[in-house]
Amino acid sequence: MAISITDRFGRPLSSLRVSVTDRCNLRCHYCMPEPDYAWLPRETLLSFEEIAAITRGFVSVGVDRVRITGGEPLLRRDLPTLVAQLAALPGVRDLALTTNGVLLADKAAALRQAGLHRITVSLDTLHRRRFEALTRFDAHAAVLAGIDAASRAGFESLKLDTVIMRGTNDDELVELIEYARGVGAEIRFIEYMDVGGATRWRRDAVLSQHEMLQILGAHYGPITPLGGRGSAPADRFALPDGTTFGIIASTSQPFCEDCDRSRLTADGVWLMCLYASAGTDLRRPLRAGATRDDLVHLIRTVWSQRADRGAEERLGLATREPLIPLAALKKNAHLEMHTRGG
Ligand code: SAM
Repeated sequence: MAISITDRFGRPLSSLRVSVTDRCNLRCHYCMPEPDYAWLPRETLLSFEEIAAITRGFVSVGVDRVRITGGEPLLRRDLPTLVAQLAALPGVRDLALTTNGVLLADKAAALRQAGLHRITVSLDTLHRRRFEALTRFDAHAAVLAGIDAASRAGFESLKLDTVIMRGTNDDELVELIEYARGVGAEIRFIEYMDVGGATRWRRDAVLSQHEMLQILGAHYGPITPLGGRGSAPADRFALPDGTTFGIIASTSQPFCEDCDRSRLTADGVWLMCLYASAGTDLRRPLRAGATRDDLVHLIRTVWSQRADRGAEERLGLATREPLIPLAALKKNAHLEMHTRGG
């Protein structure tokens, strides 16, 4: 039986995002715009057994939702094996995966069979040439095929995540909602965030939740807020015909006060916040022979000290520029969004 813990603001630890690789097969200009990157050394990457052992520790303190992410998680060989190991952990009530979909067409059924409950595919545009300009790869057809395979694989839910940027894809809100409806997915529009990696972030490229709702309301008519967000990042809304969608307004309306999430990088660094400047290394103690009780003790101690509210602190800044200067980013892979997972 898990005994849950809270941080300094009374927030529980319920959700863990596990990055399984820092590598990606796309170069989205809001996440990995640079020509080259420093990668995590291969020997530091956690094995599936190590990921499962650490996750088991988190489950003992109340984590019941686990999301596999990256980098691009489908680049990690034999991922269904990890899915099966995590799905078998008593206490994991919700096991989800976030992917860019490029390699999904051949893998969706195996992931579902291995026990994955839910899947989220990132899709920023419905236009092939625009996709190529945004990601530097001509892989749009592969992503659409991946979404199609996921919609047939019988997941408990299929979501699409779209980062909306002014002047890039803000003319596609309606088209994307219609596409999502057609494939049986719920779409979530994400405000462009000034996270590490987003070295080209500019405040004026952010389309706020308010502006998104204005555009959608002008097209569809009155939009109803659904409320009941709880600790989930997305505010949900319904169109007049009942179609639902979400908006993740982390930039204009941060939700740190409800944040019960933390992140494990592929090399075992545990981060309290997407904006954190450093984390706690869980790989070293594990490889040095720490028992589950030792790990649980460490997790409890660190979480009980947590006071992070990165997105709210960013909102309070008078001038807002990319979070990490490029020179600092190049020296420390752990500051990158593709290392931390989204
Ligand atoms: N490769 C996988 C994918 O594309 O879904 C998982 C990792 S990716 C870092 C996770 C999510 O973070 C994606 O939906 C991506 O769009 C989002 N993301 C990355 N940089 C972002 C930024 N600057 N602002 C908002 N969302 C961002």
